[in-house]
Amino acid sequence: MNGSQNEPVTLPLLLDLAGRRALVVGGGAVATRRASALAEAGALVDVVAPRLSDEIRRIAITVHERGFVADDVTGAWLVMACTDDAAVNTSVASVADERRIWCVRADDAARGTARTPAVLRRDGLTVAVAGADPRRSVTLRDAISVALDVGDLPSRPNRRPPHGSVALVGGGPGDPELITVRGRRLVAAADVVVVDRLAPRDLLGELPDDVEIIDCGKAAHRHNLTQDEINAVLIDRARAGKRVVRLKGGDPFVFGRGGEELLACVAAGVAVTVVPGISSVLAAPVAAGIPLTHRGVASRFTVASGHQDPDGAGDDTLVLLMAMERLDRVAAGLIEGGRDPGTPAAAIHRATLEGQQVVRAPLRELAGAVRRAGLGAPAVVVVGAVVDALPGSANATSADLPQQSE
Ligand code: SAH
Repeated sequence: MNGSQNEPVTLPLLLDLAGRRALVVGGGAVATRRASALAEAGALVDVVAPRLSDEIRRIAITVHERGFVADDVTGAWLVMACTDDAAVNTSVASVADERRIWCVRADDAARGTARTPAVLRRDGLTVAVAGADPRRSVTLRDAISVALDVGDLPSRPNRRPPHGSVALVGGGPGDPELITVRGRRLVAAADVVVVDRLAPRDLLGELPDDVEIIDCGKAAHRHNLTQDEINAVLIDRARAGKRVVRLKGGDPFVFGRGGEELLACVAAGVAVTVVPGISSVLAAPVAAGIPLTHRGVASRFTVASGHQDPDGAGDDTLVLLMAMERLDRVAAGLIEGGRDPGTPAAAIHRATLEGQQVVRAPLRELAGAVRRAGLGAPAVVVVGAVVDALPGSANATSADLPQQSE
């Protein structure tokens, strides 16, 4: 089938190539990838090929823009035959073999004297997967990567960050698979989890015994802890140096009192981050097969708390998607429709992505401020008093969350 039965027994090794010469024969996409992996490992890369990609020119220490000749292997600790011509690769491999230099063949791995595994580096560990079928190796490597990300595999370094912290994690609507990867990773690394009734509680079963679990509400309307007590326990454990996860249902800021918890932590000088979650606002309709917007049927939806009278529309938060092109007219329309021109508003460009930018201005000035900042699509616009509700909290949002490298 895939020849896996014929894979000879080999000796896995890690090569220290720092400052050592490595020869890449070939100048195309495969050669470029291999050359860049070699350069990342600190090798001094020589490249030989009649045609070379721009990137491989940047990577290489020396380039020879011509066909391979036997003497090219002189001085190399490792050779990679990466041309698209099997005859050339064969001759590279045989020259290397004669000179007792290990040779990797990109076109036919089994016919080289060395093979490269699928590699994953994480937290000071290197994971290498190899076999006769490279796709299988890559699939397994990727699965290991995801499992490490979400905490399914124990790679947790024993080193603990020196200071405690609080993460307000949106757990999604309840299905343990609908939490974000970052949320799952933070839960897996937590010393203390402070959990709500509607959070994905199935995740708690996977935690080690020494993780402290604090349950905030076992049944509806019967809270074990008041909000003040919750804030106090978050701050107390973080001050004791613990990694605290406040695991909430849905999104932490949607009817979740996450904003209050954030302010309490900021006021106490405790490091706090927020990880958004899939709100039941979005998830429950999907679960029932109901699209919240549907072309020709509905172009807006309203979310309100049944605890308050939904008619009191004055301080509604309005969220607009796809509004950047016509922001002048959209804002004018809202003001004509009765919104106070001084209503706080914000445009959030490329949220959570590199280059995220947030422009805040009163509604009447938002379009001008967005223009001056040079912001375009994609962006989400928020209009309402909530835009100014968490002063100074902009540094505690998930976009700034460190990538949990500790
Ligand atoms: N922060 C949460 C909402 C907290 S308010 C979120 O973003 O989803 C709690 C309310 O959310 C519940 O009374 C219910 O109306 C709704 N809710 C939360 N999880 C739900 C679920 N799995 N199914 C249906 N409704 C849910």
